[in-house]
Amino acid sequence: MAKMTIQDKLALLSDAAKYDASCASSGTSKRGSRDGTGLGSTTGSGICHAYAPDGRCISLLKILMTNYCVYDCAYCVNRASSNVLRARFTVDEVVWLTTEFYRRNYIEGLFLSSGIIKSSDYTMEEMVRIAEKLRAGGFRGYVHLKTIPEASPELIERAGLVADRLSINVELPTDASVRSLAPEKDPVGIRKAMGKVRLTKEDYAERSFTGRRRAKFAPAGQSTQMIVGADAADDATILGNASRLYGAYGLKRVYYSAFSPIPDSSAVLPLIDPPLMREHRLYQADWLLRFYDFELGEIVTRDAGGMLDLDVDPKLAWALANRDRFPVDVNRAEKAMLLRVPGFGTKIVDRILKARRQGALGLEDIRRMGGRVKAARAFVTAKGHHPSGALDAADLRARFVKPKQMELF
Ligand code: SF4
Repeated sequence: MAKMTIQDKLALLSDAAKYDASCASSGTSKRGSRDGTGLGSTTGSGICHAYAPDGRCISLLKILMTNYCVYDCAYCVNRASSNVLRARFTVDEVVWLTTEFYRRNYIEGLFLSSGIIKSSDYTMEEMVRIAEKLRAGGFRGYVHLKTIPEASPELIERAGLVADRLSINVELPTDASVRSLAPEKDPVGIRKAMGKVRLTKEDYAERSFTGRRRAKFAPAGQSTQMIVGADAADDATILGNASRLYGAYGLKRVYYSAFSPIPDSSAVLPLIDPPLMREHRLYQADWLLRFYDFELGEIVTRDAGGMLDLDVDPKLAWALANRDRFPVDVNRAEKAMLLRVPGFGTKIVDRILKARRQGALGLEDIRRMGGRVKAARAFVTAKGHHPSGALDAADLRARFVKPKQMELF
């Protein structure tokens, strides 16, 4: 077989990285430019978009160092038994590509993951060398390194000193699923590695005994990814696990990645992918738990089947099930209750709290502030507005459910 060029490797190893959700913006279908034509596509060259800790949307070169892997995780296209074309970048090739893309203003950072070659330490060392070489060459862009949990603590520490963010994939919602679908992985070891990252970060945040600030360790924190739909775990289990991870390891984000059937997939996996809406609802529920003070049991319970409602978002589902808590008076209610109104995000609530000091607010005022009045109308009272019988209407839920397109086949 002819020797691969760096462009060939880039095409292969950026495509192989697309299953990693830990940095991608999602929710839209991408238009490819494999034929070399078309404007605006970033899929061909491995550029993805992510949100930096300060909220900026940044472009990252998202690649695998290699798609060779000695592990055989059933859900992964790069597993040892998979019949895919393989490639491997050298350390210098990744450094060169990142630097050149950065100089041309194509990217603002690097997201680097990898299959495991030889051993966890060998692979992690190569990845760390890439990031160290970039920093030594003056690279100030964002670096997100996917950390291999079995790698030595010294390597993880070196990684955190050059990367902005570290992530360790928890892989699946339950330990039993990890043991069955990724037999070489140890769920306890994965959590230990997350704990080590948290403790090391806290350690570096303290001043040294001379009072000097120490080097920054993974300043953008750590994140993880959970695959949804490859096993039978319900949404209550998934969100329960995510809540524990946020609490115990101080994670910045848990990314939910809907399982997509892969070529040559293992017989133990489902043949069809879960609805993408499930992934979306999990993100919405995750947001409610972190920023809206909802308890897990308010959003999803095992008694109710353990699954989120796919037809309406979780906050609306809660409001519909708790109509006795409404209507909420936008001019008098406390912040905690305003946050529970469908159509009101955290920013809108802050704006309402500030603006109502100047005088009573009507629905038009809230619309101008950016509130989704259509969603909120039945659940609030405001100047000149009362929902009257809307809350008791038998078809209230149906008003929010979009009609489904009938399947032709
Ligand atoms: S270790 Fe990572 S790259 Fe290797 S098979 Fe498992 S998920 Fe895939």
